[in-house]
Amino acid sequence: MKSEIVLPEEFEPPSSGPAVPRLEAVGHNLAPAVHLRRVPDASSKRLFHVPRFPENPRTRAFRLRFFPDVAPQEWNDWRWQIQHRYRDIEDLEPVVDLIKEERATQIRGAQLPLAITPYYASLLDPHDPSQGIRRSVVPLRAECVRSPGEAEDPLGEESDSPVKGLVHRYPDRVLFLVTDFCSTYCRYCTRSRMVGHRDGSGLPQSQWEEAIRYIEKTKTVRDVLISGGDPLTLPDEKIAWLLKRLRRIRHVEFLRIGTKVPAVLPQRVTPELVRMLKRFHPLWMSIHFTHPAELTSETACACERLANAGIPLGSQTVLLKGINDRVETMKALFQGLLRLRVRPYYLYQCDPILGSSHFRTPVEKGLEIIAGLRGHTTGYAVPTYVIDAPGGGGKIPLLPETVVGWENGDLVLKNYQSRLFRYPGGAGDPPAEHASL
Ligand code: SF4
Repeated sequence: MKSEIVLPEEFEPPSSGPAVPRLEAVGHNLAPAVHLRRVPDASSKRLFHVPRFPENPRTRAFRLRFFPDVAPQEWNDWRWQIQHRYRDIEDLEPVVDLIKEERATQIRGAQLPLAITPYYASLLDPHDPSQGIRRSVVPLRAECVRSPGEAEDPLGEESDSPVKGLVHRYPDRVLFLVTDFCSTYCRYCTRSRMVGHRDGSGLPQSQWEEAIRYIEKTKTVRDVLISGGDPLTLPDEKIAWLLKRLRRIRHVEFLRIGTKVPAVLPQRVTPELVRMLKRFHPLWMSIHFTHPAELTSETACACERLANAGIPLGSQTVLLKGINDRVETMKALFQGLLRLRVRPYYLYQCDPILGSSHFRTPVEKGLEIIAGLRGHTTGYAVPTYVIDAPGGGGKIPLLPETVVGWENGDLVLKNYQSRLFRYPGGAGDPPAEHASL
């Protein structure tokens, strides 16, 4: 072992002094995210090896240019990041060359508020309005256009809500919306009808209590997905209180947290947070990722801390026109996530929320992406492509056609290269419509 002394993981070191860049923001050459450095210990004069939070070169250059008086220690404080979010389109003026379609949102008024953490803003391309992650968080005039088939609540969550803040659609699991606050707002957010209207303190305690009472008395609920808004924007104590209350319910076997924090506010994943979370296993996490440009050294560090705490990590990605609707983009994202120990879980067809037509692709595009991944990369890197059916039908998987039909009792299958193969005698009695090819 190289290092003599390793401090416990809850130790959060000061991160003053020059940051050591670890990764390129968009690079796919991910290195270990936790960098060990030697700092003197005043009492014993011994050298300690402590983890430090990384800073990718692009973010460091941004900090030095736009926040020259802010030390890395302050920059890496997630509360500082939340307090200094960009909240208005004109706030972005110094850091992004705004185009007319972006400026127009100030006049026309978008439904969803704007908020971007300084960290995430550092990843935006100031000169390219078509850059994927810039399009995902900077509003365009197109958001103000309402198209046929769009709705405020396309998934019908309100009608499957027995008490406020709880969606009970599937028999054995519930979706618990614990806050309507996010550090950064995605312009295509399914819950844009309800997020962004508070200060980050979470929904009222009485609402939480009512939802918990419902879960307590509904014995069929074995799985609770805690979402929002973004639950990881709540203070540690509130999250701990909630997890403890839910863990006390004997029929709840399994807790999940849905979050975008590791992508937009990775500084939030502190050693204290993960130390608290791991008290509540089995606890899983679904992380919302959009584009490989999000896979920075900071995000790698956040995922590493969560994975090292034994939290199984899955990703959720929304298919977005002009942002991530290319096989190569998705392959880079999903392969990069595997390197961070995040299993690509769902690829969603974009929900028809109000003002979303500029984000939505034809379903064929999603099928093309899945066909371009399956067989061409590790199976773990291929998520399930789903439509969350409008009106409350739940998630319905969409698969490229692989069963061609039946011939002489054999099942005829198409592989990832479009070559045909037979599975002998495995077809059983073919359905009438496939009696012959
Ligand atoms: S993080 Fe999730 S809840 Fe928050 S704005 Fe993005 S999609 Fe909506």
